Amino acid sequence: MSAEPIEQWESRSSAELRGLVDRMGPQLADATAYQILEWAAAEFGEGLAVASSMADAVLPHLAARALPGVDVVFLDTGYHFEETLRTRDEVARRLPVRVLTIEPVHSVAQQDAELGPDLFGRDPGACCRRRKIEPLAAALRGYEAWATGLRRTDSAARASTATVAWDERHRMVKINPIAAWTDEQVADYVAQHDVLVNPLVEQGYTSIGCGPCTLRPLLAGDARSGRWAGFAKTECGLHS
Ligand code: SF4
Repeated sequence: MSAEPIEQWESRSSAELRGLVDRMGPQLADATAYQILEWAAAEFGEGLAVASSMADAVLPHLAARALPGVDVVFLDTGYHFEETLRTRDEVARRLPVRVLTIEPVHSVAQQDAELGPDLFGRDPGACCRRRKIEPLAAALRGYEAWATGLRRTDSAARASTATVAWDERHRMVKINPIAAWTDEQVADYVAQHDVLVNPLVEQGYTSIGCGPCTLRPLLAGDARSGRWAGFAKTECGLHS
């Protein structure tokens, strides 16, 4: 993680934030992605973090327009493709955002020494917990809200994703500004604003995660079918 400390501010209680979701969720249900982020910028300011997998820079780009300097959290599991790390570096270079690279407590080598090599191949749930879920929870501490690039068309499990929701696990507001966007809307935004896209997308990966778990060609109709081949798992657990 960046050595630079996250600035502290007076954070509201869970009850206050949950009440905010109850009031604003319905009002923002049909708002545009930018309107939602404008609201989030005004409401949370530096208490807003944006999560990005660096499959593309659509969400960081939108968020930077609404809140220049916004924190963009990238989970570096130690297993990412080179293209993904280069996309992260380009996002940091081109956009007015602060990219925070979050690493797990243990390196891949340390994890291998402790639990044996290739934990992802034997127990991907445990691997995701150590390398994604726990680091994200630590990274989000101190913020009041986080924004994600979840979309309803990603998978059946995400079909009812709300634009503004209460995140019980992290006890904060979860904002999904592009939840309603189609693939075409994403492509239009990329073209209109010349937004960075991970080069792997051109090679057919519409859901880009860690190298070992993004192996198969994608099946038509399910953008996340290329993940965790051979396991029933379709989500890393960050959004459950
Ligand atoms: Fe481990 Fe695969 Fe999860 Fe990455 S996606 S943390 S390699 S199980």
